[in-house]
Amino acid sequence: MPLIDLMTLNAGEMADFVRAKGWSRFHAHQILRWLYQHRATEFDAMTDLSKTVRAHLPVETRISALTPTDILASEDGTRKFIFPLQDATAIESVLIPDGERLTLCLSTQVGCTLDCSFCLTGRMGLLRNLQAHEIVAQVLAVQRRLPPDAQLTNLVLMGMGEPLANADAVEEAVRRLTNQAWGIGFSPRRITLSTAGLAARLKRTAAMGVNLAVSLNATTNEQRNRLMPAVNKAYPLQTLMKACRAFPLKPHRRLTFEYVLLQGENDSAQDAARLVKLVRGIRCKINLIPFNEFPGSPFRRPSDEAVLRFQAIVTRSGIDAYIRKSKGRDILGACGQLGTLAESVPLIPIQPRCSTA
Ligand code: SAH
Repeated sequence: MPLIDLMTLNAGEMADFVRAKGWSRFHAHQILRWLYQHRATEFDAMTDLSKTVRAHLPVETRISALTPTDILASEDGTRKFIFPLQDATAIESVLIPDGERLTLCLSTQVGCTLDCSFCLTGRMGLLRNLQAHEIVAQVLAVQRRLPPDAQLTNLVLMGMGEPLANADAVEEAVRRLTNQAWGIGFSPRRITLSTAGLAARLKRTAAMGVNLAVSLNATTNEQRNRLMPAVNKAYPLQTLMKACRAFPLKPHRRLTFEYVLLQGENDSAQDAARLVKLVRGIRCKINLIPFNEFPGSPFRRPSDEAVLRFQAIVTRSGIDAYIRKSKGRDILGACGQLGTLAESVPLIPIQPRCSTA
């Protein structure tokens, strides 16, 4: 009999497992706490379990964990973790220190369902969805490798993959990340899910209680079909904006719209004016992401002046617009740079340029 990986069990399944063994119900809660709150990888550590339980667990079960094959450190403090999975595929997670914040950017798929033309992950195609425990394991693995006084403060589901194309696993992962009684205990307001715009599934994000970011990236269907063909064909701009307007925002929260700035594609004054019109009336902020180049990418990053001019038009209309600091570009750890490159492409270190907070 293969060992049962305890990390693959949700809370209900853990309770069933413990009940089937004839153990006290309380043991399920204890084991969950060891796995998620103490990040245990060994049964010996579980000192408050009865001796019988502790002795029996390794007979039938195991605790899987992710171990990075590589940790690439950027000059700006960002670190990219490369995690191999059991089926010999790999995912990447990016740790981003920024003042008081320590954010981890998580992957939700190996590759991506979508085919956005400016994104490196999109070029891999979808290899497979991650399971809930593989999403959570990224958090546990990185937290284990931090100094004892360093705590992750924020999580963003913005790494490889489209989270809402893998919504069941993401939902279960969020449950384990936010459960206060036995889980990792993150406040949902410190977690942000970013979607390319699967309009019909925005509701599921609302149910998870996490923040929603929508990657808009274009202001006309013609443009969006070119940049984000798969998602815009399924949910054209008007459908997406309607779903955004219907999104049940909690008090004091706002939607984030991400907008990748591509030179000569979507960075004109007219684009900025159209963007303002599109989001008008929605409680939101806009994150402008100057394009992060990768070897072989067809697009260019606009000049700093063009980025600032675009921002000025949006802010002048009364909408908050921030320029996303593009961290980790020298290790291909910035937005849209995660994924495998064809082996023949040399990894060229990219010189840091504009980064206005
Ligand atoms: N699939 C989700 C999450 C992953 S992409 C989504 O689309 O939102 C995370 C963010 O990076 C998105 O806003 C995306 O538009 C942006 N992005 C993708 N490629 C990029 C690149 N090369 N440079 C800058 N931002 C990029």
